[in-house]
Amino acid sequence: MISVFGSANMDLVAYVSKAPKLGETVTGHRFRTVPGGKGANQAIAAARAGGQVAFLGAVGDDGFGAEMRATLAEAGVEVRGLRQVPGPSGIAHIVVDDDGANSIIVVPGANGTITGPSGEDLAAIAGSSALLLQLELPMGAVVAAAQAGRVAGVPVFLTPAPAQPLPAELLEAVTTLVPNEHEAAAITGVEGPDAALDALLELVEEAVITLGADGALYGSRSGERLRVPAVKVDAVDTTAAGDTFVGALAVAHTERMGVADALGFAAMAAALSVQREGASTSMPTRREIEDALG
Ligand code: ADP
Repeated sequence: MISVFGSANMDLVAYVSKAPKLGETVTGHRFRTVPGGKGANQAIAAARAGGQVAFLGAVGDDGFGAEMRATLAEAGVEVRGLRQVPGPSGIAHIVVDDDGANSIIVVPGANGTITGPSGEDLAAIAGSSALLLQLELPMGAVVAAAQAGRVAGVPVFLTPAPAQPLPAELLEAVTTLVPNEHEAAAITGVEGPDAALDALLELVEEAVITLGADGALYGSRSGERLRVPAVKVDAVDTTAAGDTFVGALAVAHTERMGVADALGFAAMAAALSVQREGASTSMPTRREIEDALG
C-alpha cells in the first residue's frame, strides 16, 4: 500500500479576460470547481497508475469535503484515513486570465488543523510500501510523518512544494526528493539542473528534478545519473504534471521496476496528463500508460 499524507483542496477556478485589481470587479466567462490539493492529486495519480493507495488527511464538514472524499474513493483510493474535522475544507481560489496566467489564494482550512500524524496514520505509514509527502500541511506534521516512514524503513518521497526552507530533520528522513527546477534552485541556491542535482545529493540519497517539457534529471548518491527525455506532446494544461509524475513514480518503485523504466513510466503518465485539462480529471489510467509506452 502506498500512503499519501497530505492536502486535499477544492480548486475554485474562475476564468477571466483580465484579472481584477484590488477593489475592482470583473465579469468572468467560466467557473468550475475541481478537487485538488497536492496530496489528493498524488493519491489519485498513483491509484490510476495502478497502485493500491491510502490517503491520510483531513477535510471539513462542508460540501467540498464530501465531494473530495467521493472523488478520491471513485479513483480507487482508500479513504478510511481521511478525517472530517469541524469547519471548512481547504480551498484554492484560482483566477486564470486569457493568457493562461494565474493568481492563486490557498486557504488551508481542514489541512491546517493537522498538527501531526494520528496513531492510525502512524500505523498505516509503518505498513506502507512508500510514503508520499508534499508541503501543503503544517511543517511539523510533514516532518513527523517522514520520520515515522524512515524509522519503519519505508521509502519517503517528498515533493518540496510550495517552495520553502526545508528543516534538516525533514531532509534526513527523506529518501527521494522530487522538486521541479524552481524548487530545486530555491532549496540549493544553485541555478542549472545539473549543479542543483549535485547540491541536492548532499542533502538526500536520491533526487529527481522535473524539468517540464525538458523531462527530468535523476541522481543518486551511489553515483547513478539519468536524463529522462520528456515525451513530445501538445500540452493543453500542465496543472498537476509534477503530482502525476510522482504518483506514477511511486507505483513503479513499489513494483520494483528499474530506475530507468520507473522514470519512463512516470514521464509517460505526466505527458498523458498534460494533454488534458484539469488536475485529478487529467490523470491517465494504468492501461493508458501501458498502451502509450507500447
Ligand atoms: P510541476 O508540475 O511540479 O511544475 P514539471 O512542470 O517539471 O513539474 O512537470 C513534471 C513532469 O511532467 C516533467 O518531468 C515531464 O515528465 C512532464 N511534463 C510537464 N510538462 C510537459 C510537457 N509540456 N510535455 C511533456 N511532458 C511534460
